[in-house]
Amino acid sequence: MVLKLPENVKKIIHTLQDAGFEAYAVGGCVRDALLGREPDDWDITTSALPEQVKGLFARTIDTGLQHGTVTVLFRAGKDSWDTYEVTTFRIDGVYEDARHPKDVTFTPSLREDLKRRDFAINAMAYNETVGLVDCFDGLSDLKNRQIRCVGEAKERFTEDALRMMRAVRFAAQLGFSVVPDTLAQIKALAPRLSMISAERIQTELVKLLVSDHPEKMETLYQCGLTDVFLPEFSALMKTPQNSRHHGENVGEHTIESLRHVRSDKVLRLAMLFHDIAKPLCRTTDENGEDHFHGHPQIGAEMTKKILRRLKFDNDTTRRVVNLVRLHDERVFRLEENGSDQKQLRTVRRAISRNGEDVYPDLFAVMRADILAQSAYMRSEKLARVDGYERLWKEVLLKKQCLSIKDLAVDGSDLIAQGIPSGPEIGQILHAMLEDVLDEPERNNREYLLGHLEKYQKDDL
Ligand code: ATP
Ligand code: MG
Repeated sequence: MVLKLPENVKKIIHTLQDAGFEAYAVGGCVRDALLGREPDDWDITTSALPEQVKGLFARTIDTGLQHGTVTVLFRAGKDSWDTYEVTTFRIDGVYEDARHPKDVTFTPSLREDLKRRDFAINAMAYNETVGLVDCFDGLSDLKNRQIRCVGEAKERFTEDALRMMRAVRFAAQLGFSVVPDTLAQIKALAPRLSMISAERIQTELVKLLVSDHPEKMETLYQCGLTDVFLPEFSALMKTPQNSRHHGENVGEHTIESLRHVRSDKVLRLAMLFHDIAKPLCRTTDENGEDHFHGHPQIGAEMTKKILRRLKFDNDTTRRVVNLVRLHDERVFRLEENGSDQKQLRTVRRAISRNGEDVYPDLFAVMRADILAQSAYMRSEKLARVDGYERLWKEVLLKKQCLSIKDLAVDGSDLIAQGIPSGPEIGQILHAMLEDVLDEPERNNREYLLGHLEKYQKDDL
């Protein structure tokens, strides 16, 4: 078995070996190299103690000395560095709180170090001298495309409950299945996930969502993990929708929709949450058909709360919430058979209100939603989105005024006209924008400043 190691990784391993220590590439990078995937980062495990590692390399950072980790840096360019985590062989002590080992002890044994790792596919080491070290049959798991714990699954998940999320996340990234015993232990121990921080859960959730197999959300649900960190999603899986537009329950439709947007964090989150309020909004009419009035708006509020709870950053939250709010709107609220001019007016108003940036994502969300619905009226629905997109492009191409900053005048022009600085300036600019959205040719200094009185009155 020969794997191709990057030059810097070879350099680190050789330097450590020449000083009399053992050293190997280990964990995720060995797994990915065996699968022919490009590893994100290369980690090295060694018998050298952190101080000994520091003594052998010119530039290092003390990343986590108490856990045995030193980062070694090599210059990659003028201001850039390649970094490699070098960690001493270690045994994790007793886990006290389903999260952190109480202490770690260093060990001279590679096998002991591999034993503390989560899954057999993540517990292999490699260097050019020894070749592959695979004490727990990780290679056969890779061949059988499966995730299996190192040792007793029950113990491993009790030590660190995050590993339950990691198992499903790796299954999603690699297109593997979780072996029955490991899966059964996740089902049994899922409630322990409540001891894990929202930040760590968020990281695993996002990795699963942007993977090639976001449909593994279903496994998270079936194991009882979503009950712990996303009960709102579990509710979708229990909400039927009796409607011509749907053949599946809300959760199944949601999962299907994930597969119809490209791998992008905001888009996949928007699909995950687009129907999150349906269980709350469901009504059944006299013909037995279900309706979900108001679900985009209520869903947007729910999404905001959930993303805050899961500690997502403000920008991601804002973008996802916006998409959930807009996903089901007749985007531009066009009148049937309105004149071209009237339609473009409506479109300008919508773009001005929602911001022009949201639309490419919104069209992707709407298409994914439609593709995950029943075939009923599908081509008509898709054609409608195509039409919206054409209008949006047309307005952008004309480079017409869509916001206050695009107006031909600004606050200082108004002050020069004798308007006192203060809230009135903003009110007048707003009135001008409203007017210009209707009549774009009015966006010039002569017209706007020549009709100041009208705009002042407008806003009273
Ligand atoms: P990726 O970088 O794609 O997330 P990875 O396998 O490299 O995948 P990391 O989180 O970078 O995962 O961890 C590197 C290695 O450390 C893993 O391959 C595994 O051997 C070990 N490891 C990481 N987290 C845990 C954990 N919670 N429990 C046990 N071992 C772990
Ligand atoms: Mg990694």
